Amino acid sequence: MTGGTAMAIELGRRRLQRAVASGGTAPTVVIVGGGLSGLAMAAQLRRSGVTGVTVFERSGGVGGTWRDNTYPGAGCDVPSHLYSFSFARKSDWSRRYADQPEILGYAESLVDRFDLGASLRLSTTVTSAHYDDECARWRVDFEGPDGPGELEADVLVLACGQLNRPAIPDLDGLEGFTGPAWHSARWDHTVDLAGTRVGVIGSGASAIQFVPRVAAEAGHVTIFQRTPNYVAPKRDRAYQGVERRLLEGVRPYELLYRWCIYWGLELRWPVFRRPGLAGRLLGRTFRRKLRAGVVSERLPGPAIVPDYPVGCKRILISNEWYPALLRPDVDVVTAPVTRVEEDAVVTGDGERHPVDVLIFGTGFETTSFLSHVPVRGVGGVSLADAWRGGARAHLGITVPGFPDCFLLYGPNTNLGHNSILFMVERQVNWVLQALAVRAGAAAAAGVPGATATVGVRHDVADRYDRWTQRLAARTTWAAGCTSWYKNTAGRITNNWPSWTVRYWLDTLVVRRRDLDVEAVVVDRHREDAPDPQMATG
Ligand code: NAP
Repeated sequence: MTGGTAMAIELGRRRLQRAVASGGTAPTVVIVGGGLSGLAMAAQLRRSGVTGVTVFERSGGVGGTWRDNTYPGAGCDVPSHLYSFSFARKSDWSRRYADQPEILGYAESLVDRFDLGASLRLSTTVTSAHYDDECARWRVDFEGPDGPGELEADVLVLACGQLNRPAIPDLDGLEGFTGPAWHSARWDHTVDLAGTRVGVIGSGASAIQFVPRVAAEAGHVTIFQRTPNYVAPKRDRAYQGVERRLLEGVRPYELLYRWCIYWGLELRWPVFRRPGLAGRLLGRTFRRKLRAGVVSERLPGPAIVPDYPVGCKRILISNEWYPALLRPDVDVVTAPVTRVEEDAVVTGDGERHPVDVLIFGTGFETTSFLSHVPVRGVGGVSLADAWRGGARAHLGITVPGFPDCFLLYGPNTNLGHNSILFMVERQVNWVLQALAVRAGAAAAAGVPGATATVGVRHDVADRYDRWTQRLAARTTWAAGCTSWYKNTAGRITNNWPSWTVRYWLDTLVVRRRDLDVEAVVVDRHREDAPDPQMATG
């Protein structure tokens, strides 16, 4: 299937190349976000012959989440060989689960590999985007090193990710805390933690990676934990000797290895379905092992044994988490945090926990997709209005009323069991094909200067959304636990609720009948219209 992904990407690329060659003009494209998904989109557009591509990235470099998260111990919990795109595979990973610097290096390498340097606008934040009905184009406002500007483009790709806006709880008294305090995704490397008393709020995927490293350095660590997680062993190892040479030098071996990882992960999907024997058995095994091996006087059952179904929150992997919790200089506090004082955290049981440094491993704003970038579609309708009640998009990619606008890693495309890069590739393939349909429609109009717009039909998107939510209701995410996968109303907005094979099939070929395709002739030389791709600012 991962080889299949490559074929499908080629399908999208070839369709677009053919459409452009047979008379359809290549679109100009603005991509918002220079993370892995934005880079994949830019690379594949370039390979399809589309040269008018601009990637806006608010930070000073590419890599997205892998650039933001530099905390000690940061790494990926998906095996490395499935954490590269099938069209840009990396065969020389140093270990089975790569650390952040190696993944960031991979992201940065894509810039040279696909010659994307000239397309990048770094340190530039997109402040808003709106669809100009008369011009049938997107106008994108941005704030860059030289001030504000506007850029006009045929197509807008929003590749902003789901985990990019740190969530810091609004704790009473926090502003009066006198020590250093930061979020895991904004690590302050200037602070020497040696000998300090560190308070960590949160015990999710990020915390389980940095707490063991912090504990090894600090004088004392207090973890303020709201909910325990299921933490499985991490079968990590460095690639060495023959194995490394095979992976690097024998392409069929590396492909087979990648394929085995994919299916190994994919076959875990039944764990996430309800009612499910697989999940129940796995949960029982987990809890039995925890009671036998970790539960102790220092770590009583309620502090570490989850009371919700396995998979409801992300299943974590670490060999260091429980040993760190068992250290004499680490405390797990389960009473809720009620307030922060200038040098302490106070919990609901009245205890005052003195701390010198406060670290938030409290996750991200995940369900309010893109609320930080006002995006307006046809008739000035905003994405925020279209998403009242919860973010939704057809295949996670396209929203009715927002023609020529595509999302990558959008609503209902996150995974709990496989590689997100697989999903992103599927989305890129779909977008390339939609652009091919667009270019074909413009060429078929047979009028000089004609263009076309493409977007999903309302009824198709509604039907798909109902189906997705029906499936989501039958997953373990809908069970009684809090998680970043669902909004306050309980709607599962973030995760794909099926096999990734199903997503592969659904995104394999763009169905023309699902789309609103319109050929339009517009006056691109209105006085107030900025020149295409002429950015000001
Ligand atoms: P997270 O998994 O959402 O964990 C946030 C933690 O903060 C939870 O323990 C949560 O408790 C706690 N929390 C939130 N608000 C709180 C409050 N007001 N008081 C006390 N505790 C509070 O966030 P994350 O650890 O940053 O990870 C987010 C996602 O990033 C992961 O699920 C994963 O998809 C991704 N990630 C991936 C990797 C990787 O290896 N690929 C590594 C790191 C992160 P509750 O559980 O009770 O809500």
